Amino acid sequence: MKDLKVVLFDMDGVLFDSMKNHTESWYLTMSKWNIPCTKDEFYLHEGRTGAGTTRLLFNRELKREPSDEEIKAVYEMKTFHFNALPKALPMPGALELLQKIKAQGIEVCVVTGSGQVSLLSRLDSAFPGIFDEKHLVSARDVTKGKPDPEPYLKALKLMNVSADEAIVIENAPMGVQSAKAADIFTVTVNTGPLDEKMFYDLGTDKLYPSMQSLADNWSLLYAEIINQ
Ligand code: MG
Repeated sequence: MKDLKVVLFDMDGVLFDSMKNHTESWYLTMSKWNIPCTKDEFYLHEGRTGAGTTRLLFNRELKREPSDEEIKAVYEMKTFHFNALPKALPMPGALELLQKIKAQGIEVCVVTGSGQVSLLSRLDSAFPGIFDEKHLVSARDVTKGKPDPEPYLKALKLMNVSADEAIVIENAPMGVQSAKAADIFTVTVNTGPLDEKMFYDLGTDKLYPSMQSLADNWSLLYAEIINQ
């Protein structure tokens, strides 16, 4: 690596412990639609749009495409259940890691498939003074989401760095695919129930079992990356 100038952070399941709310609300919604599924499978679908997840389950279980009305109704129900759950807390270890990175003069940027309007205020209240409002790529900035490389390529451009001056922190299979397709060194934090082998098969360069573990090992990882 030339120099580490920017760390690109995914949000759900990395900065916020929000994945269990997503899986719970998807599971409740699909169960009400009498569509068999497991809670854990939604960790695999992380990064897919609501319409994409709905299409996948309708095709698999009902052997048909959902109508546009059904896609809309499913997503409204999912959002209703999601909003009824207690707000997700910052991921343990995330603030510590962000502070270590910032103290080294390295920039940080958020790259998320979320399109929530309240994104910035959430980031700011959980991680005060860490994120610049301009350093954000959200669902509203891309035409193709993860696993396409577009979100991470957009982030490199936004931060004015090349792929060998950045690393990605991800928790989802499709996020790792997106980052690797953009040719960026990728660190997986396996904060969900998925088998770590899946992430190695997708090409992740490093894997830690939690954000706390990554925060604890940051200095070692930094030295390793820089000397590559
Ligand atoms: Mg994620």
